[in-house]
Amino acid sequence: MRCRHCDKELTHTFIDLGSSPLSNSYLTTETINTFEKWYPLKVLVCNHCWLAQTEDFVGADQMFSEDYAYFSSYSSFWLKHAKDYVILIQGSDKASDIAKKVKKKFGGDLDEIIRFLPPGNCKIVDDNRRRIK
Ligand SMILES: [Zn+2]
Repeated sequence: MRCRHCDKELTHTFIDLGSSPLSNSYLTTETINTFEKWYPLKVLVCNHCWLAQTEDFVGADQMFSEDYAYFSSYSSFWLKHAKDYVILIQGSDKASDIAKKVKKKFGGDLDEIIRFLPPGNCKIVDDNRRRIK
């Protein structure tokens, strides 16, 4: 399997939770005694960009039914999180400089931030890969 973000080969299993029904696909009194479809729930992590991703996934048409229980855009907390979202990719900035930028934006401890940065130099970009100062 290849990384959905950087297309590198995925070789590292982060966690294998066996199998599970789709998230937020609650059973009703009408469906409680019917067959419930379960899917493998194995999460891999990319050694290059650190994106964690499931090995198997279903399409939106299978996941989102008319009674789907969770919509992220309804959550003001989640909207704030998405607005503050930061993408780190390989670049020329030192980890200590990146950590200072992350601390300025979100707060936190510099050593803790550095611990979670990808190895080597990197840069902060937006969704369109434009550098964020
Ligand atoms: Zn990757």
